[in-house]
Amino acid sequence: MSESRWFSETLHPGVRVSYEARRVLHSEETPHQKLALIENEAFGKVLLLDEVIQVTTADEFIYHEMLAHVPILGHGAAADVLIIGGGDCGLAEEVLKHRSVRSLTQVEIDGAVVDFAREHFAEFNAPVFGDDRFQLEIADGARFVVETDRRFDIVLVDSTDPIGPGAVLFTEAFYGGVQRCLKPGGIMAAQNSVPFLQHKEFVSAVSAMSGAFPVVSAYVVAVPGYFGGHMTLGWASESRDALDVPVEELRQRFAQADIATRYYTPEVHAAAFALPRYILEALDEGLAADR
Ligand code: SAM
Repeated sequence: MSESRWFSETLHPGVRVSYEARRVLHSEETPHQKLALIENEAFGKVLLLDEVIQVTTADEFIYHEMLAHVPILGHGAAADVLIIGGGDCGLAEEVLKHRSVRSLTQVEIDGAVVDFAREHFAEFNAPVFGDDRFQLEIADGARFVVETDRRFDIVLVDSTDPIGPGAVLFTEAFYGGVQRCLKPGGIMAAQNSVPFLQHKEFVSAVSAMSGAFPVVSAYVVAVPGYFGGHMTLGWASESRDALDVPVEELRQRFAQADIATRYYTPEVHAAAFALPRYILEALDEGLAADR
């Protein structure tokens, strides 16, 4: 990224999304990716990896709450949680809000992202580093899931887009590894692109998931910094039980969890699985591709 006043994200072919950098706070090349931090009037501090927005202080709660609370409250008794990726540790913060969680393991490939986020995003991730349930491993998540002896109730995949080191986290081999390290009743939820602009990536990820899991679905979340309409989070599990929890039960679980949220509500949880038709059709296309 240059030190110019405006910078552009060019993740989507034919689209350039520009943000004014009031200040470029940091810029470096880690052994894995280009990392930059800028300050923007609307989004606050913005972290970019390989010139793609990863997290912003203004809207991080939206994505992190939905990726954490939907599977955890859908499950109802999650004790052991695994995060793959998630370098900024905003997702870990949401997971650790649940008193039912007794261990959280995070496997992130790039230690520099975690060190950097710890220093620059303390406003949301500070509680993580003082919590003794949190255990960080610097390793490739794709290797971890095929090698570990540990088993988890929930696996959350908070990856970069399917390019660079994150590409492997959208493959059937990886999802097969995730399936292998889930306990009975376990659930995977995963960052799964903006289908309006990443139709092919969405369909391909759904197809790969359905090669590894009998139940595959998706739910939507509107994240202002992830341009292009609804973002989808992928869902994979052995059964439909956690998908079919009535909203009244979700209300009870949420009340019992007693956590503060700014986006998540049990009603939003239930509604997020009502997919707009173009996303439903893309989901069906991915499911059919595997048959
Ligand atoms: N919420 C963001 C988004 O959707 O754009 C992603 C946040 S998080 C910063 C993504 C993390 O995934 C990065 O820190 C990156 O280093 C990590 N990552 C990429 N490939 C990985 C792999 N193979 N194993 C573990 N972590 C990986």
